[in-house]
Amino acid sequence: AVREAAAVAVDAALLAGVLMRTGEQPNASDVVNYAPFTLLPSAVPRALFEQAYAVQQDFNLLVDAVSQNKEFLEQTLASTIKVDDFTARLFRIYMQVLEEGLAQTVFLGINRSDYMFDCGLDGTAALRQIEINTIAASFGGLTSRTADVHRLVLKVLGKTEEASQLLPNNPAKGLALGIAKAWELYGSQRAVVMFLVEEVQRNIFDQRCVENELWNRNIRVVRKRFRDVFEQGSLDASRRLYMDGQEVAVVYYREGYVPQIYNEQNWAARLLLERSRAVKCPDIATQLAGTKKVQQELSRPGTLEKLLPGHPAAIARIRATFAGLYSLDEGEEGDRIAATAIADPDRFVLKPQREGGGNNLYGEELREVLEKIKDSPERTSYILMDKIKPQPALNYLLRAHSPLQVSECISELGIFGVYVRQGQELVLNQAAGHLLRTKAIEHADGGVAAGVAVLDTPYLV
Ligand code: ADP
Ligand code: MG
Repeated sequence: AVREAAAVAVDAALLAGVLMRTGEQPNASDVVNYAPFTLLPSAVPRALFEQAYAVQQDFNLLVDAVSQNKEFLEQTLASTIKVDDFTARLFRIYMQVLEEGLAQTVFLGINRSDYMFDCGLDGTAALRQIEINTIAASFGGLTSRTADVHRLVLKVLGKTEEASQLLPNNPAKGLALGIAKAWELYGSQRAVVMFLVEEVQRNIFDQRCVENELWNRNIRVVRKRFRDVFEQGSLDASRRLYMDGQEVAVVYYREGYVPQIYNEQNWAARLLLERSRAVKCPDIATQLAGTKKVQQELSRPGTLEKLLPGHPAAIARIRATFAGLYSLDEGEEGDRIAATAIADPDRFVLKPQREGGGNNLYGEELREVLEKIKDSPERTSYILMDKIKPQPALNYLLRAHSPLQVSECISELGIFGVYVRQGQELVLNQAAGHLLRTKAIEHADGGVAAGVAVLDTPYLV
């Protein structure tokens, strides 16, 4: 039955457009395959799912507040930028743009807050935030299509009633709504939305889902890389952004969050974009608001109260999702937690200021690295976090060219958030849908693009 359902599932995924380009031909759509996904939907506690949705507008508000708080970003990142060159370079652009004075007046945030379900000693699960992604949060497109696939699989397996329980979900539509709103407020009919994309574009179909939603609204979309911006980009006297004479209203980054892609030309292109009047999603301040160092400082007692005065209920909802987070800044507090983690590494995750998966350290490796850097300033480029331990469940991970086998799995739930601010007024603030990713427990780190996790659909219990 499983074998038969898997064959149906793969064809359904291809039909529904749950697609990725292949590793061999990452820039051609002549040969494509299905994006990896689970055979079965995974059980998610309904109360935690609802909690994650209920706190999303609060997180939108918080990210937006952090992005506007120069003093907080300066203080929080001061130790990090002394040792982390990438964050330092982003920070320099941030300061440079502020000194010149912002030309941008409309702000668009698209983020994804990720959670795991921490299993307590008594077996009850709690919602714990892993991180919030403020740049290039992906899979809002492909995940719009996975519920249909899982609905069919459940029917094939004789679970018609269960199939009808799966929720509709369309983050791509919500993301496009935010982009369209920002485009409209920018106020130029002729201007386009520019997707800033990678050199290697395996995940193009995920982006196309959002692009198509914009075309449906008669908004023009172009896809450009940083090097195109370097070659074709320019600003006019009022810092409107043009690409070869074509005005750009919104720049939606699906690139720009890893240091490896930045040569000097790409840094120059990034600076040009940030200086422009175009709506950047995200602007550089919002990218910095998504660093792990900021996440750690947000968990300090009193910080949320300073950032969101007059919002005690939002603060309570936000704080209820925090796991233990610890600063490794030089001093007694950092010394103490470093020693604790070296003694008991399985309790923690060691995180550098990087995005995209595959950068965190766990277990013995965490111990070795921390042992080596514990007396050097280098340690302040990392933070420590309590390791979340979810209850595993069995599932089948369907991947092209891989045998069908059952795995012990854990899942990570992401909620997409979208907001638009014009000057000081928040004109849109929404949760835009969800993403469930599942991986085999032998992998400590995650990520679908990183080749570890696969797409999934929550089955609420
Ligand atoms: P990235 O920016 O690289 O995505 P994350 O903080 O999301 O960094 O971590 C990557 C992956 O590592 C997550 O998807 C999750 O699988 C795992 N992970 C991160 N933090 C924790 C944690 N505190 N406990 C357990 N697993 C974690
Ligand atoms: Mg992540």
